[in-house]
Amino acid sequence: MVSDLEPIISAATIDYHYGKHEQAYIDNLNKLIDGSKYADMSLEAIIRESDGALFNNASQAWNHIFYFFQFSNAGLKEPCGKLAERIDEDFGSFDEFKKKFEEAGATLFGSGWVWLSSDEQGKLYITQGKNADNPMKDGLRPLLVFDVWEHAYYLDYQNRRAEYLKRLWEIVDWDLICIRYGN
Ligand code: MN
Repeated sequence: MVSDLEPIISAATIDYHYGKHEQAYIDNLNKLIDGSKYADMSLEAIIRESDGALFNNASQAWNHIFYFFQFSNAGLKEPCGKLAERIDEDFGSFDEFKKKFEEAGATLFGSGWVWLSSDEQGKLYITQGKNADNPMKDGLRPLLVFDVWEHAYYLDYQNRRAEYLKRLWEIVDWDLICIRYGN
């Protein structure tokens, strides 16, 4: 099996990370909501209104879909339009933004996610989220996320998290990130 995202993310990583880790979060989520008041809620509503094991599994289910679907080997390679302007305004330049985002990912201790999000005024934020955290909990709109749990990179990069973070830029589909921002 070959992945369209090779060599940045291998088919083996997709098989384990998407096929097994993500599947486990979805299966656990479905067991936890079965017969409860959450059964008919949207996944986003469950994330906003739950905590503990239900939040962890709901948020991890959502975060992984958001993560995997933002990648393409044929997408736009840098931000466009309003998002590009706002990245320059809030971080100085696209290169500075990438550097700050990689630093946030590299310095997050343990498992979690590094996020780019926006508020209602369109201002941009880079945040570190531990474990299953999601910026929706803080009223922000998620735009881009890098998974920094070891399961995301260990098969391909072993302990070299910084290299994994740097290489992910090669497959981020900025067309999609711009749509998420509202360009
Ligand atoms: Mn993951």
